[in-house]
Amino acid sequence: MASQEIETLAAALARLPGLGPRSARRAVLWLVKRRESALPALLEALATVGEALIECDTCGNVDTANPCAICADPRRDTKSLCVVEDVADLWALDRAKLFTGKYHVLGGKLSALDGVRPEDLNIASLLARVEEGGIDEIVLAMNATLEGQTTAHYLAERLEEHPVRITQLAHGLPVGGELDYLDEGTLAQALRARRPVG
Ligand SMILES: [Zn+2]
Repeated sequence: MASQEIETLAAALARLPGLGPRSARRAVLWLVKRRESALPALLEALATVGEALIECDTCGNVDTANPCAICADPRRDTKSLCVVEDVADLWALDRAKLFTGKYHVLGGKLSALDGVRPEDLNIASLLARVEEGGIDEIVLAMNATLEGQTTAHYLAERLEEHPVRITQLAHGLPVGGELDYLDEGTLAQALRARRPVG
């Protein structure tokens, strides 16, 4: 039985996505053994993130500046907009460095099961960006899950009346595949082979 302090830390870490109680305890042990070499840097990084991270009012990305570095980058193509479910998807696509346009984060996906309705997602702000004009192409980069595809269809319908080309990531995305977990090659292939929504 570990001390209360260690249990508290392990319990906090176990709430992180992808970390169960076992790996959380392993992480705590790792930190205890390296409390002089690794802990200060981790504490500093956590404090900085806690103080500095904000959501971009334009696209929903999380960054230390608002507008975020992507929205503020003048080298980015303002004519293409890539719509993603979550910030993790934006980061995954951006790591692949193939999309040179800008992004829009929905903040989730439509789900009857979880009671997520269109008004719960950043759809109004997406339509507002499109209505402002200057966007030629919208890439719907939803996950290849049932809910992701439902969301893409819904968006395609809402965007129909606007003079924009609407494309979607190509199949080749594994069924049930979540963008954040794909390797960059697969992601790049899906983006290159994007096709019109129809
Ligand atoms: Zn932004």
